Amino acid sequence: MTRIGVLALQGAFIEHEQVLRGLEVEVCQVRLPHQLENLDGLIIPGGESTTIGKLAVGYGLIEPIRELARCGVPVWGTCAGMIILAREVAGYEQPLVGLMDIVVRRNAFGGQVDSFVEDLQVPAFGQDARPFPGVFIRAPLIESVGPGVEILVRLPEGGIVAVRQGNLLATAFHPELTGDSRFHRYFLAMTGGWAESGLTAAGSGER
Ligand code: GLN
Repeated sequence: MTRIGVLALQGAFIEHEQVLRGLEVEVCQVRLPHQLENLDGLIIPGGESTTIGKLAVGYGLIEPIRELARCGVPVWGTCAGMIILAREVAGYEQPLVGLMDIVVRRNAFGGQVDSFVEDLQVPAFGQDARPFPGVFIRAPLIESVGPGVEILVRLPEGGIVAVRQGNLLATAFHPELTGDSRFHRYFLAMTGGWAESGLTAAGSGER
């Protein structure tokens, strides 16, 4: 059975767990480095990226997460989790795993009251062209991407909100809050553990 870890330091980890359990995946909460052992994938949830980063430093998780990703294990960051995966956060110095060649801007759409839902086109879902409900809550925006990064989703105005770099996936929005499990199934396909998902792990976004 596929085993997915969800970093459970702060933020929306329970919601990810619930979606994964619905997909009949074994889920482990990760708070300590040894809990990263034998995972097929890791999700870093949304929440508050400075808090998650500081706690990750405190629990000695930063280097072990880097190591996991370098070994090829898929890692997906949603919202604050995406910030944690970024190489650079514009205007902020904060603890990061920092493995994705992206520069992100925190709170790029404003504060909590400026949260919104936007229908997103996701070419990587292949034939399933139904729009994906993108839930943006104090969301970051991807300002620039390096050459190895594939752009999976843009807002209608052009802003980049989902990317993939090999085994690393990042979404500025919160798929775990939608009742639509296609992004979770896409991630599971990256882990090779979701044969019947109907989604392939091969990218099909822009370069
Ligand atoms: N604004 C938060 C941050 O910068 C992210 C918000 C979220 O994860 N929903 O950390």
